[in-house]
Amino acid sequence: MLKLTPILLAILYALGMYRVSVWRTSRELDARSTELADPALRRLTDRMAEALDLQRIRVHIYEIAPVNGLAAPDGRIFITRGFYQKYRAGEVSAEEMASVIAHEMGHVALGHARKRMIDFSGQNAIRTALMMVLGRIVPGLGVMIANALTSLLSARLSRDDEYEADAYAAALLTKAGIGIAPQKDLFRKLERLSGGGAGAMPAWLMSHPKTEERIAALEALERRWR
Ligand SMILES: [Zn+2]
Repeated sequence: MLKLTPILLAILYALGMYRVSVWRTSRELDARSTELADPALRRLTDRMAEALDLQRIRVHIYEIAPVNGLAAPDGRIFITRGFYQKYRAGEVSAEEMASVIAHEMGHVALGHARKRMIDFSGQNAIRTALMMVLGRIVPGLGVMIANALTSLLSARLSRDDEYEADAYAAALLTKAGIGIAPQKDLFRKLERLSGGGAGAMPAWLMSHPKTEERIAALEALERRWR
């Protein structure tokens, strides 16, 4: 029992962290978002809603500058003000915006948004437990090894999520008659916007796998569906 106590404490701590971060995230999003009302985008989201037999797809604007889209653990979909401005300025087309919305819907539909919050607190529990065990075997280095192992694990998990969300978006865009082309165009566009350097890289790309590989995965789907 005494040996298990640190692990039990780590799990309790992780559960607490999970509650707090879900609460914090939704409070932050509530305070800084409004519903998106754009006629051209609405026409496209209505087509996607029809393809999914939904009444409508609600999208919210999150008032921050970085170019990003996100799916909240409660299932709401957000586009940042920065991303919306690129669309308003004509740099990103309505169909390309629809592909971002479809991708985020994929994260919601496939349960990633919720899983990610669990991952986050699950990771804390794994890290804490690993640190306790490794810390005894290799004092000092144990913490570093524990950190490296946990981040490797989470990178692996989120990479798979991105490919799944892309595939979901591709299917939805195809069914809605919008097609996969805007999805691929947007990847290339964002890559160009970043100018190849990581400095100006849009946040939406940074958290995702390599653009080339994502496009290749989409093309493989296209071939299979044709
Ligand atoms: Zn994603």
